[in-house]
Amino acid sequence: MSIYKQLAEVMFPDVTITPAEYEEKYPIRQLKEGARVTRIAPSPTGYLHLGTFFTSMVNRMTADATDGVFFFRLEDTDKKREVEGGADDILKGMNDFGLTIDEGFVAPGVISGDYGPYQQSQRATIYHTYVKSLVEQNLAYPCFCSEEQRQAAREAQEAAKDRTGYYGKYAICRNLTAEEALEKIQQGAPYVVRLRSMGSEEHRIKFDDMIKGTIEMPENDEDIVLLKSDGIPTYHFAHAVDDHLMRTTHVIRGDEWISSVPKHLQLFKTLGFKPPKYAHVSPIMVEDNGNKRKLSKRKDPQAAMHFYAQQGYPADSVLEYLLTIANSDFEDWRRRNQTAPRSDFKFNLKKMSVSGALFDLVKLNDVSKTTIARMDAKTVTDKVIAWAEEYDQGFADLLKRDMDYTLRIFSIDRGNAKPRKDIAKWSEVPDYISFFFPETYQNALELPETIAPADAAAILAKYATVYNPSEDKDAWFATVKSICEELGFCPDVKQYKADPSAWKGHVGDVSSVIRIAMTGRRNTPDLCSIMQTLGPDVVNARLQTAIDMFSK
Ligand code: GLU
Repeated sequence: MSIYKQLAEVMFPDVTITPAEYEEKYPIRQLKEGARVTRIAPSPTGYLHLGTFFTSMVNRMTADATDGVFFFRLEDTDKKREVEGGADDILKGMNDFGLTIDEGFVAPGVISGDYGPYQQSQRATIYHTYVKSLVEQNLAYPCFCSEEQRQAAREAQEAAKDRTGYYGKYAICRNLTAEEALEKIQQGAPYVVRLRSMGSEEHRIKFDDMIKGTIEMPENDEDIVLLKSDGIPTYHFAHAVDDHLMRTTHVIRGDEWISSVPKHLQLFKTLGFKPPKYAHVSPIMVEDNGNKRKLSKRKDPQAAMHFYAQQGYPADSVLEYLLTIANSDFEDWRRRNQTAPRSDFKFNLKKMSVSGALFDLVKLNDVSKTTIARMDAKTVTDKVIAWAEEYDQGFADLLKRDMDYTLRIFSIDRGNAKPRKDIAKWSEVPDYISFFFPETYQNALELPETIAPADAAAILAKYATVYNPSEDKDAWFATVKSICEELGFCPDVKQYKADPSAWKGHVGDVSSVIRIAMTGRRNTPDLCSIMQTLGPDVVNARLQTAIDMFSK
């Protein structure tokens, strides 16, 4: 047995399997030509950042555009960052905001697929198998340097103005013979396992990033750590092994990893794996006092997906908006295909912003208003109730008290050619429809300055005599017009404008007074529909209350 094989055997006595067996266990996926396999690989921190969600969406869309697969792998090798139930929170966030996952962790408590385990902490044997094989080929070696030695080396490097890192003359353990290493291990010395890098700083490598274009960087010459002293893999090594065995074709991830690509390409090569295509997503940016900066978990509440859940932004609104900042031609496409499902849009990585998409809450609200305006009354009712069940139980109870009534409320100005676009998020709804419920109705009844209370009282007293609950919109308006003249208001706005001094106001003022009496507001959806929904008892009672108030 070669000395390297002996060394590998001593380092990994429990590994009895070979890489070839894993290659067979996880075969190339049988997908149609060109299908892309993508993934998201978060740590279980219990916090779903908008950036992670955005990157997941980009992965999802990339897979969808090619009938590919999008999977979720849990990178739980850093126990310090781990939060109890932290994966479930992330998955729930993704699911709630409409991101379906095909494989791996697909929902809280649900794992499926043939390429698992999808959790790094359960893949120790796999990592050890590959490292063992590298040691056997003298492509990896144990390093016994202590933390103090490493610190001293870093200081020496800084003093000499050299790059820090374990390379060249600083890679002390690289030069130990296998016999020496073997002896140290047998004496029980702790060690990490390092890659024996064949690279050189002098060489430059080139690769095509699907978002950022062609990138050139020096080749990696660092003997990077593959396994830490507790046998847990580093991100770099796990990335290579996992994405190879899970047959990922496209690694789409945050661009903080771009500087690591030379390490990754070298790992793929040394392990004999075909490298994936890379696409590095720039961080989402926000404008702050005229400057652009990264969306920050600390400074920006909207960095957390939880924010959107709490505010009650529908999943469709968030996805629709994120797609507008992900691919600049999406908005145009949407204008031309107003009702098409998003999955029909041909998502293109190459059209993503290199400098970072700018996040804008005002624009999100706009997109959301349009999205909500397109929903039917039943959908809105269900979604508002689902939101309220979580964030405003009292309101949920109010809505559920009479579901027919609630459905009628949400039917107003909806389902026609020009639906009203005034709800951006469900948290606006309790106030928006407060006048439909005696519990939340506030009859502050403030008139515009141009209308005298006595005139308002006269309008309402007159209207009370002609009010007919069965009138449709046209008849309703005709009735309002019919009472104008005798009250001194002009029934026609144009005619009024020709000679305003001849009148107290016009038909718009008359309906304003009725609107205020019914809702306590100057601005509402269609008033006739509101009155039909409130019903004659409430309408008559509110007319009376308003008459009393304005006659005082
Ligand atoms: N666990 C890594 C992270 O959360 C994954 C990066 C990747 O997608 O490869 O940053």
